Amino acid sequence: MKYRGSCHCGRVAFEVEGEIDGAMSCNCSMCQRKGSLLWFVPREQLKLLTPESDTATYLFNKHLIQHRFCPTCGIHPYGEGSDPKGQRMAAINIRCLEDLDLTSIPVTHFDGRAL
Ligand SMILES: [Zn+2]
Repeated sequence: MKYRGSCHCGRVAFEVEGEIDGAMSCNCSMCQRKGSLLWFVPREQLKLLTPESDTATYLFNKHLIQHRFCPTCGIHPYGEGSDPKGQRMAAINIRCLEDLDLTSIPVTHFDGRAL
């Protein structure tokens, strides 16, 4: 299945391919504030429809994850990083996807605060 997602103003837009079998709610200092629901896919399944240079990046802690956000409207649609095997991954904030019934997605809680 292919989903389309964007920030609020549309400066950052993308397509992402895959099956959403669940999402993660993380309680780390960043995710708790954002309220994002994350779905992890290999980075190549995420295709930006807008220039990557229109996306701003926030780094904190060990700088392992690039938290991408829109510099105009401030929405954080996705992040990027590597899994333990070194594969490039994207963490999609499924709250930014179109035509998705969020109540149908099972959410698991991740204790990111403990990392
Ligand atoms: Zn925006």
